[in-house]
Formats: sequence, C-alpha cells, structure tokens
Amino acid sequence: ARKKLSKLKKTPAITKDGVEIMLMANIELPDDCVSAMEAGANGVGLFRSEFLFMGRNSRIPSEDEQFEQYKRAVVAMKGRPVTIRTLDIGADKPLDQTEHTALNPALGLRAIRYCLAEPQIFLTQLRAILRASAFGKVRILIPMLAHAFEIDQSLAMIAQAKAELREQNIKFDDAVHVGAMIEIPAAALALPMFVKRMDFLSIGTNDLIQYTLAIDRVDYEVAHLYNPLHPAVLQLISMTIAAGHKAGIDVAVCGEMAGDIKLTRLLLGMGLREFSMHPAQLLSVKQEILNSDLARLMPQTRKIMRSMEPNVIADAVEQLQLL
Ligand code: PEP
Ligand code: MG
Repeated sequence: ARKKLSKLKKTPAITKDGVEIMLMANIELPDDCVSAMEAGANGVGLFRSEFLFMGRNSRIPSEDEQFEQYKRAVVAMKGRPVTIRTLDIGADKPLDQTEHTALNPALGLRAIRYCLAEPQIFLTQLRAILRASAFGKVRILIPMLAHAFEIDQSLAMIAQAKAELREQNIKFDDAVHVGAMIEIPAAALALPMFVKRMDFLSIGTNDLIQYTLAIDRVDYEVAHLYNPLHPAVLQLISMTIAAGHKAGIDVAVCGEMAGDIKLTRLLLGMGLREFSMHPAQLLSVKQEILNSDLARLMPQTRKIMRSMEPNVIADAVEQLQLL
C-alpha cells in the first residue's frame, strides 16, 4: 500500500465530483519542509514556531535568528503558502522545564496571552515573520484567541511591526494574511467577532476538544474521555466551517482530526476544503479524498449533525466509509 500511496504525490486532491481540497503540512522546524514537499503538500498549514524557542534555557532567539528560520521554511516550500503560527508557549509546551508552573497551565498565561503580556518578544517575532514574507507567501496565524481585544491588539502589533520595517526600508509583504486559531469553545461560539477581523480561520481540534470536554490533553487518566466525535465538538467544528465560508474566508483544520482518515469524509461533508496534518498522514488522506463523492457525503453528514446520540453518530460516521 505504501508504494501505491507514493504514486499519489503529484496527484491533486480532487473529489470524485471534482472539488479540489488543499492538503497542507504541520511542521515544527524548517527541516520538516523536506517531508512536507516529499508528501506533495500544497503548503504549510501550521508552523509551530514555539519549537524554535524551546530547549534553549529560556534564551529567546533573536529577530535575525528567527528570520533565517522562517525564511528557510518559506524558500523550501517554493512559493507555496507557509502559515506561521506565532508563539504558542505555555501549558504542554513550556519555554523552560524549570519555570514555575501554574496550577492550571492550560487555562493560564499561554500562547497569545503570553505574547500580549510580553510585547517585546511578540514584536520581535512579528518583525521576523514579516521579513520572511518578502521571500514567498506567508500567512500569520494567532493561537488561543478568545476575546475581541486580543484580536485587535494582535492586529495593532502587526501594524506596528510593519510600520517599523517600513521606516527602516526593510521589505515585507504588506498583504500578508492574518488568521485566528479557533481552539477555544468561546471563539467557535462568537464567530462573527472573528470573521470580520481575520483573513482566515484554522480550527485547532486538539485544544478545542480539550477545552470543550474539560479533558487535559496530556493527562492519560482521562484520555479515554477525549472524544473527537462528541456531538458538542462536532457542532463547534461544523459551525466554524459554515461561518467562515459564509463570510467568504478560508477555514482549515490543523488539529490531529485533519490527519485521521476515519474522519476525512466527515470533515469533507461538513464543508472543509483545507486540511493540515503531519506530513506522514498526507497521502493516506489524499487517497481518501480521491475516493470521496461530496454529493453523497453531504446529506449523510447533515444527518450526523442533527444527532446528539453518540452511538448513532459513531455508526453514521462508519457508514460514511461505505459511500
Ligand atoms: C490544536 O490545538 O489542535 C493545534 C493544532 O495546536 P497545538 O496542538 O500545537 O496546540
Ligand atoms: Mg492548540
């Protein structure tokens, strides 16, 4: 099966009824672009930039160091979009293993909350990302947004970084798209707040499930309760896709659900047109898409979305595989 899959590398991911799906790669470091390109990815849907910051005893990489790394990824992707997520530090990704940990780190000062509390660190990163945008197609993705003022402050910081670069005659792409991770239930329930401010959305199902079900994603004692098919989770995902498309902006899923072939058809049926996943999953998901017929998936998915019975949902998701 492996050999057959590798033949799909250059095949576009088009459903049987002719809809093209974007398959993007999740990366942690620029070197991962090699496997992304080998898998035939349409771009990078999630560059987890915090990996440039981790394991350095809290020594923050300089603007130039960051710029070089972002640029490497952008150049390696040869014109394909590279979605750079701003620092998502804290909780399961501490800057320093020895740092003081809050009682509930997942609910604490992480990701955009940390960045807005440390504007110098944030501004430095934004400048580095913008500088890399002069070398290809860059998109900026902001993690863990819940409040309108966080979106507004983030956009103001981006505007400030741009103004500084302009002042210094340093090149960047002024039209760089800025998007929000939808990974807190409050965000999925307040989508108008996001779609009017952002250029695109990316659903982080790993955290969305954690926060919706109140399941610590790294606590093995509750791992059996971590269920992507919980009706509440499915409703939030479906609402986000629909609201984004209604507003005319792109919506991706970049959590683990996007790389799970048992869920590919369900997400397609919900209207998802952009998946971002570990490169190792990409060709299997593509194969699933090539064998899918949206016209048949959509009515069955609507039925799934009308159900609040876990058994009915699980059975119907299995039925999708037979369509
Ligand atoms: C997510 O939360 O689904 C996500 C993609 O981000 P991370 O796993 O890095 O928190
Ligand atoms: Mg997340």
